[in-house]
Amino acid sequence: MGQLQEKYKSYRLPQKYMAEGVYPYFREITSKQGTEVEMGGHKVLMFGSNAYTGLTGDQRIIDAGKAALDKYGSGCAGSRFLNGTLDIHVQLEKELAEYIGKDDALCFSTGFFVNSGVIPAVVGRGDYIICDDRDHASIVDGRRLSFATQLHYKHNDMEDLERVLKNLPEEAIKLIIVDGVFSMEGDLANLPAIVELKHKYNCSIMVDEAHGLGVFGKQGRGVCDHFGLTDEVDLIMGTFSKSMASIGGFIAGDKDTINWLRHSCRTYIFSASNTPAATAAALEALHIIQKEPERIDALWRVTRYALRRFKEEGFEIGETESPIIPLYVHDVEKTFVATAKAFEYGVFINPVIPPACAPQDTLVRFALMATHTEEQVERGVQILKRVFKELDIIKD
Ligand code: PMP
Repeated sequence: MGQLQEKYKSYRLPQKYMAEGVYPYFREITSKQGTEVEMGGHKVLMFGSNAYTGLTGDQRIIDAGKAALDKYGSGCAGSRFLNGTLDIHVQLEKELAEYIGKDDALCFSTGFFVNSGVIPAVVGRGDYIICDDRDHASIVDGRRLSFATQLHYKHNDMEDLERVLKNLPEEAIKLIIVDGVFSMEGDLANLPAIVELKHKYNCSIMVDEAHGLGVFGKQGRGVCDHFGLTDEVDLIMGTFSKSMASIGGFIAGDKDTINWLRHSCRTYIFSASNTPAATAAALEALHIIQKEPERIDALWRVTRYALRRFKEEGFEIGETESPIIPLYVHDVEKTFVATAKAFEYGVFINPVIPPACAPQDTLVRFALMATHTEEQVERGVQILKRVFKELDIIKD
């Protein structure tokens, strides 16, 4: 037996949950990602998606993707740096910079590539990175790839952040990196307080708007815009894989930093550029999000409804302020069983277990789209109520 087989032969966790019939991953969907999806010949209510604007099945976006496929072909066969730059990549970058409210932007093939490439490119030896301890895995990997000193503070605890900053040299580059909306718990970064600390301790700030775009701020510009702090945040990243109905990501900032990244960021230079279809789809989504603010109103209407109903029914939903609603279970086994039972009764939700959350804070994540109806949300609440009561997570 080879070394790797020897090392991994005892990894049996998936098999255990498969044997119990509660393995919740890699479930196959055979339709578009709408408010209902087809799975194994059945329709299931989708509350496990990140498509907050509900645009993934929008015909205008599909048509834009098809037209780009016809015009430019299926791939770019090279990186942006060399032969992989299309006019639509450049157009998308220009429009995103304007939309976000920064000088310039760069588009990448995924949001993960943005964080894992940009962070080590902007901060290195002698600098400091300070992260919230619930930041997304792509931020964690980005900071691990940097030679900067890595520090973190307790989730959204501004006193703890100040404790960290206080001890750092005044003149050193200190980059605070946070999720604008935390992806599992749905709470927001305390950006006003972080900006105050930025001034007090001479820092820079990078915000991940993966879950804020299309949800918060004017025309869905994100959490920085929501707080009126876009000018105070140095770098803003976003992804096309959620509200923008495609795949890819971007970084936006001042012209000099973006120019540096354009010529040094390894995931930008040494990886092929995003596909024509994905790029055109993101561009069309960006236009629709700006043209149709009523989508964001609809998203908030169903979000408010769901928040109210979960509270009324006695669910523990934490500190969420967004369309991401965590339904706390506080037990890994029960989290899997709740996910499986919900699925059996017709609702798709996602289990959240370590390392995506603290071991004592396991939950199922219920997320809204602008296209959900109140009737669908009510059905979801009723099914989850039944599941949570059967498992004794909530009482009568
Ligand atoms: N940041 C956050 C907060 C995310 O939730 C995600 C995706 N789950 C990413 C970055 C990575 O984005 P992408 O899916 O575009 O790689």
